[in-house]
Amino acid sequence: MMYEKIYTERIKQFLDRLTNLKYALSAPLEAEFIYDKIEPIPYKTAVKSKFKPIRVGDKWGKLWGCAWFKFKGIIPDEFEGHEAGVLLDLDGEGCVFVKGIPDQGLTNKTGWYVNSGKYFYRLSHKAKKGEKVELLVEAGANGLFGKNMEEFRLQKAEMVIVDKKISRLEIDMIVLFDLMKKLPENTPRRKKLLNGLNEIVNIWDNGEGIDHALKITKELLSKKAADSTMAVYSIGHAHIDLAWLWPVRETKRKAGRTFSTALKLMEDYPDYKFGSSQPQMYQWIKDDYPELFKKIKKAVKDKKWEVQGAMWVEPDMNITAGESLVRQCLYGKKFFKDEFGEEVKNLWLPDVFGYSAALPQILKKSGVDIFMTQKISWNETNKFPHHTFYWKGIDGTDILTHFLPTNDYNCSNMPSKLKSEERYAQSDVSDEFLNLYGIGDGGGGPSPVHIELGLRQQDLEGVPKFKFSFAKDFFDKIAKIPKKNLPQWAGELYLELHRGTYTTQALMKKYNRDMEIALHDIEFLGTMIKDFPKAEIDRIWKDTLLHQFHDILPGSSIGWVYKDAHDLSEYNFNKLHDLFEKFFNRLFSVRYNDKLEGSYLAFNALSWEREEIVRFPVEGNHHYKITDAEGKAIPWLINHGHIEFFIKVPSLGYTTFTIKKEKKAVEQKHSGKAELKITEDGIVLENKYVKVTICDDGVIHSVYDKERQMETVKFANKLLMWEDLPINWEAWDINHYYKETKPEQAQRVSFTLLGDNGHLVGIEQVMSVGKSTIVQTITLASHSKEIRIDNNVDWNEEKKFLKAVADTTIHSDTATYEIQFGNIKRPAHFNTSWDHARFEVPAQRFADISQPDIGFAVLNDCKYGHIINDGRVELSLLRSTKYPDETADMGEHEFTFSYYPHLGNLEYSDVLVKAHELNDPVTIIPIKNLPKQTERALFEVDSCTVKIDTVKNSEDGKGIILRLYETMGMNDDIKLYFDERYEVEETNLIEEERKHLKKKCGSIELKFKPFEIKTLYIKK
Ligand SMILES: [Zn+2]
Repeated sequence: MMYEKIYTERIKQFLDRLTNLKYALSAPLEAEFIYDKIEPIPYKTAVKSKFKPIRVGDKWGKLWGCAWFKFKGIIPDEFEGHEAGVLLDLDGEGCVFVKGIPDQGLTNKTGWYVNSGKYFYRLSHKAKKGEKVELLVEAGANGLFGKNMEEFRLQKAEMVIVDKKISRLEIDMIVLFDLMKKLPENTPRRKKLLNGLNEIVNIWDNGEGIDHALKITKELLSKKAADSTMAVYSIGHAHIDLAWLWPVRETKRKAGRTFSTALKLMEDYPDYKFGSSQPQMYQWIKDDYPELFKKIKKAVKDKKWEVQGAMWVEPDMNITAGESLVRQCLYGKKFFKDEFGEEVKNLWLPDVFGYSAALPQILKKSGVDIFMTQKISWNETNKFPHHTFYWKGIDGTDILTHFLPTNDYNCSNMPSKLKSEERYAQSDVSDEFLNLYGIGDGGGGPSPVHIELGLRQQDLEGVPKFKFSFAKDFFDKIAKIPKKNLPQWAGELYLELHRGTYTTQALMKKYNRDMEIALHDIEFLGTMIKDFPKAEIDRIWKDTLLHQFHDILPGSSIGWVYKDAHDLSEYNFNKLHDLFEKFFNRLFSVRYNDKLEGSYLAFNALSWEREEIVRFPVEGNHHYKITDAEGKAIPWLINHGHIEFFIKVPSLGYTTFTIKKEKKAVEQKHSGKAELKITEDGIVLENKYVKVTICDDGVIHSVYDKERQMETVKFANKLLMWEDLPINWEAWDINHYYKETKPEQAQRVSFTLLGDNGHLVGIEQVMSVGKSTIVQTITLASHSKEIRIDNNVDWNEEKKFLKAVADTTIHSDTATYEIQFGNIKRPAHFNTSWDHARFEVPAQRFADISQPDIGFAVLNDCKYGHIINDGRVELSLLRSTKYPDETADMGEHEFTFSYYPHLGNLEYSDVLVKAHELNDPVTIIPIKNLPKQTERALFEVDSCTVKIDTVKNSEDGKGIILRLYETMGMNDDIKLYFDERYEVEETNLIEEERKHLKKKCGSIELKFKPFEIKTLYIKK
């Protein structure tokens, strides 16, 4: 068509003019405010406060300040009979309150999204002249994405009337104009749209042509969609990050603004449906705005509001441990059931950075049968091939999965966005896809424009048929597609982006690991206690689950978020510590003196018998008698001012021992000692199994396996620091090219010996790199090949990436990484683009490379970023990104990793045992007297690869829950022993279904499939 480009530009300019014409008359409002620099002012305080006057254009606050505004006015005569409202622009976010209840959110716009601003609040459909207007608005000095400016002014406060015809024409034209641009050139539809829209500009005549213009748009909008056009099931959505570029306290208010807006829109649009996930957010609404919560309950009952997502928050899936994911489902589903009577059977994670292959089983066993996301569309290298498919996890469980073909969870509903049917990979077998529309990330949700756009596209030639719907209705639809017609994807859904999130904000990751272990231990100990404080433990669990949110645990939030999360984690960790001690004291009567002589109890929260070195500092040259739980003598020795001896602690239980001083020496027999020697090659740590040489540069240059009689490394513990300058998203991303630069290697500055002949030998060495210092304690015990390296780092870098690198002599095309409830094999080479894109991958407590006769693992106590490639084993230790938290990771860090050479491949080794022991050491506590039972194993499994992962009181308080899983991907028939007689039932992960297994018994036989999780409910 001739002049198409020029007409297109002309129509665009006309649309801009139209936007400014829709609010016809205006009249000023008087404004007053109260202000607090940092904390929100409660409503009850606000209504009693004395407000100060403020004029439009005046400054009202600084970033993160909190205010209340009062706006007053009288409806002018000329407003009579018109739709009237106010236009408010506070530079930040606000919420109109009516009778103390949030009534509608206000937000200034951001450049990220179309139609993101919410400025208008309706006063009346039919204004009455002379009527008094008084509005109370709470305000926050922040934008949709936190910091948007430093100083906040009252930009606009006026009463307006709405020109309904112009408003209608504006939306009509937005739809038709956007559709026109998206249609193929020279198609009759495109040409007619351009012609019609241009004609509107021709006949406009300063508004005189409005009726004619509306006739033209009506005609163009009346063309029906083709028969085979897909349906786009659309639900109003507001992705609210529970913390990100703003603190949790602001999220609570964001939820108030967003949810009240959603309810308000339901009054105007009867077909409108809105949904929200994350019970944590509903809990905040219930606590802070109980009346609003009641309204939401009613909307759920009226089938206008959908509760979504089975998990307590939308958590990270790489770092969060298996049991935490179970609790995400348990607390999440329980909340929706208790509060709304809704059984939510979908997992809703539109914005999470990769999905563990353990998930399908966890979900299915938690009563979740569909998974929805879109994040894998962000892959920077490879295009994921499916949108609707069955996703198969490590144990073979599969789950129906839908990736939004819009590649967006903040859809604008513009025709160009909805036209995703061409992208939708399963359009051959499916007639519909899902669409989440509305402003998100910082909350907000749909504005009336989103809904108006949807209304016009319900049956319109050129776009999919827009359908106001719950997500569940869509999921029910695709569940009916025969399974054989849908593709399958086996293994993890790895996100080829945001790989830095396994490492950034190291302390948050450490707190999470510490909390997961402390909760594990207290819950096991708690099964022995009457009056277990369930409510308190539930609260701590929920805080921990909140911190697993996909911008907190991954490290992508601002510093304020981490300050709050660290403080709360510290508080909760100390609380658990106090409870642990309290329970212990109640059960075993703790001895509160530091005398070496006396009785001790050693407590083991893992499900196998462990041999542990006990070490106490001693002075002088005394002789001792140490007796075990049966009264037998335990041999001991003195090494570098410490008494050292071994004890065996039973599975999920305890043992006791007693130390006494003796006058006469008792002959000591030792099965073997570890030795430290200084040789020409360096410092040698050696025991019966392994010989480790640490050279002058602080690097381990040899780990000789004496059993296999071979060298296992070319080097290990080489601390390398690269520059870390990702293209985008600093805290999130590591770009592959960092490896193309030359790293700086940490060098040893000094060292001291820690023990030279005994059960534990080692050195402390001070390493220096950049402006940072790393104090490493490298130790070898006499009974193990594990080389343990404890690190204390003073980290003062900018945009640097520190790794511990080992180059092994092991040859294998695959490496194995621990994930939740199992492990996953990934290629140990970069053959294809899919392999290369996984140049940094997440793992839980260990990663391993093995050939059939020998293997080499790296174990960690709080690190997640790994890569094993071409025999090199790399563990990511620290980053120092500057956005969005410029202080991220600066300062002191403590963490431990170990190298563990082992005979045989991973499956037949004890790598998992060593990794779990590193994380959950035996607790040794002095006690006043020996208990009646001097040794106990409450639960024990006769199996090499099945472990009991969790022991806890059941949710109903009447039984004990044992959660077991097969750890290595094998079939295993096991025997589980109890030290009391129990009745045994099998239940699911959320303790809802129960199947009888065995009447009162002291043991039970169970069959496990590879990586199978079983949950037993046992009662006395
Ligand atoms: Zn998010």
